[in-house]
Amino acid sequence: MHVVLLGPPGSGKGTQAERLAAKLSVPAISTGEMLRAAVAQGSALGARVEGVMASGQLVSDELMAEVVQDRLAKDDCKGGFLLDGYPRTAAQTQTLDDILDDLGERLDHVIYLSVPEEELVRRALLRQRDDDTEEVIQERLRVYRNETEPLVAHYEQAGLLRRVDGDRSMDEVTAAMLEAIR
Ligand code: AMP
Repeated sequence: MHVVLLGPPGSGKGTQAERLAAKLSVPAISTGEMLRAAVAQGSALGARVEGVMASGQLVSDELMAEVVQDRLAKDDCKGGFLLDGYPRTAAQTQTLDDILDDLGERLDHVIYLSVPEEELVRRALLRQRDDDTEEVIQERLRVYRNETEPLVAHYEQAGLLRRVDGDRSMDEVTAAMLEAIR
């Protein structure tokens, strides 16, 4: 099972990725978590991405391609995976297709968690981290709209998109996601 989880910042994607991956017995692969871990460790990768992440912008497609390619080649991904936070740009959808091709696999589903804009803003303010200014939150939303939202139409055309209403209780959303890929 190879699944991508798409959704705006504040859609509950990270939490739902963990929950769904546990049900499917595949690893939840969050590129945001991987990058934050790299920053925390003070690795070379961390040093390269720290400033970009803090600004709310995207790490380059080239660097992300390396990160994701390495990660998806690991043994725990042999039975499938759930990607959270990748792809985020048109170029990244192509890279993912190429990586899957090389592995002799293909994408099964793209789940799109949809949440109304005002609810996103409300959630963003609630979970605001110390280092997140209102400006950075706005920037993340802007980048999402410009770069990532067009992937919804892309995957819809590919027949892979499964829309799930993310504006419900955590349990209801998890159940709806499972139902959507059944
Ligand atoms: P997230 O936790 O998914 O919101 O990711 C946190 C930050 O990591 C983002 O705001 C980006 O700066 C960076 N990031 C995570 N995934 C990607 C990606 N697929 N492409 C580019 N940047 C990414």
